[in-house]
Amino acid sequence: MDKKSRGFTIIELIIVLSVLGIIALIAIPRFLSVTEYAKRDVCEANRAELEHAYEIYLVKNNESDSEVNFNTFLNQWDQEVCPDEGIISRSEGKIKCSIHLDEEVEDSNDSEGSVPFL
Ligand SMILES: [Zn+2]
Repeated sequence: MDKKSRGFTIIELIIVLSVLGIIALIAIPRFLSVTEYAKRDVCEANRAELEHAYEIYLVKNNESDSEVNFNTFLNQWDQEVCPDEGIISRSEGKIKCSIHLDEEVEDSNDSEGSVPFL
């Protein structure tokens, strides 16, 4: 039997599988964090849209800003606000999500692992 037609040796298979394992170890956590950031951004954009629509609702109906008015408006709002089903509330004039808090500090994670500029 020709030696070249025997296929892969066990050593070659182990090397290929370990390289694939290392790539998966690097890629999967990065992919998960990217989807987490995307969900946070979607939630933030939806809250901004909701806030504008709420202000228009207040002007149109000649109402003032109150918790009752906001909850009435929120019950009429038929679009999903938070992809992670966070509880939407309004305080201090801003619409907030129970899961995606406004963490400006988290944006500095774009330069992962690098030393911050002083
Ligand atoms: Zn959210």
